[in-house]
Amino acid sequence: MPTLCVGCGLCCDGSMFHATDLQPSDDRAPLEALGTVFVTDIHSTRFEQPCPAQVGGCCTNYEKRPTMCRSYNCALLVQVEAGELDEVDARVVVDAAAALRDRVHAGLAALEADGPRMLGSQHLTQRVVRVQQQRGSSPELSLVVDEALQLQAMIAEHFTVNAEE
Ligand code: SF4
Ligand code: SF4
Repeated sequence: MPTLCVGCGLCCDGSMFHATDLQPSDDRAPLEALGTVFVTDIHSTRFEQPCPAQVGGCCTNYEKRPTMCRSYNCALLVQVEAGELDEVDARVVVDAAAALRDRVHAGLAALEADGPRMLGSQHLTQRVVRVQQQRGSSPELSLVVDEALQLQAMIAEHFTVNAEE
């Protein structure tokens, strides 16, 4: 695992993506053993994020991770591996984003405590919208929404790979 990815996991935990696509050759068994639910339609076979193999910002299924996981590098990692960005500077960004992510997820979890969790609704943005619908406005929710927006802005600025790149 690239050093930069250790403790991050933003591309696996529902902060950046809704789901991870699978290829027919991918080994599902380790993910099935963790209770992963796979969905197949005319577009793809995939599983919902957060991926259950992601623990503490690290992949516990690294050797058998799906093809998509093997091929994905976020923009920050691409810059580091191309020598365009110092890894120490990139680590500062990762640590700040991970800390923000942890606060947002903890804040959401507290507000969701008495609400049902539904399949297909665990992406960060969907969780924020659902809590807003369930709870209405409150200072606690305002803080979570504000930090979720900060996290989305950080992801867009530093991690998202733009199509033209
Ligand atoms: S978002 Fe980037 S740095 Fe973080 S785990 Fe994914 S590829 Fe690694
Ligand atoms: S298998 Fe590993 S790399 Fe792939 S989504 Fe899950 S935690 Fe991330």
